Amino acid sequence: MTFAATVLTLYPEMFPGPLGVSLAGRARDEGKWSLETVQMRDFAIDKHRTVDDTPAGGGAGMVLRADVLAAAIDYARTAHPDAPVIAMTPRGKPLTQARVRELAAGHGVTILCGRFEGFDERIFAGRQVEEVSIGDIVLSGGEPAALMLLDACIRLLPGVMGAPSSGSEESFENGLLEYPHYTRPQEWEGRAIPEVLRSGDHAKIAAWRKSQSEIDTRLRRPDLWERHEGARVLPASGARREKKD
Ligand code: SAM
Repeated sequence: MTFAATVLTLYPEMFPGPLGVSLAGRARDEGKWSLETVQMRDFAIDKHRTVDDTPAGGGAGMVLRADVLAAAIDYARTAHPDAPVIAMTPRGKPLTQARVRELAAGHGVTILCGRFEGFDERIFAGRQVEEVSIGDIVLSGGEPAALMLLDACIRLLPGVMGAPSSGSEESFENGLLEYPHYTRPQEWEGRAIPEVLRSGDHAKIAAWRKSQSEIDTRLRRPDLWERHEGARVLPASGARREKKD
């Protein structure tokens, strides 16, 4: 099955961009995923091909019109009825590796890229659009966010990554950051690779990596650590289990 990515944008020339090289570029050449860009301006209804208008209530900037967005979404949905439609917006739900995995397991995704002040709010309920943010930052447009989302999905498609295990141990896959990596030279500028990684003892190495992953998550991402610990004491059934010290 080919994962079909459709990107609704005012700047189709930004694609495939970085997705045209390396892992993603090769995978596209091999037919593992496809990309269609749709120029939103083609769905404008006036002779000037206007896609935006001034914000209701006043204020700076321009807002993407719901009627133009709806026509572009309807066009994409006709071709890919099973693909979820995702709008990139800082007001959306933060993107997670779990959501990326779900998307990568599906038929594809249709992505709406905002510009200016963003979208007319009515489009989200009017066309069942999921709002997704790539972090607590403000970009000038949704295109770099769409590239990030697609990159994260494409690397998980069957046959895209080399070893089948690569990916399963990575950051966020088990709710933790990954352990740190080292490679040759064994000593660099007076800094040595941790002894245990040179021991050849696979059990010890696995234990060290697990412990580093936990320490780094606790120190660098207390939010992830708290969620991880919470999930450990609260089994899926929702019944609270006694936490052992
Ligand atoms: N006025 C909007 C706000 O304050 O929430 C910001 C609009 S931003 C300048 C223009 C477009 O960039 C957005 O419509 C969205 O598509 C994209 N964008 C900006 N930051 C983003 C983020 N953190 N995640 C996803 N998309 C983002």
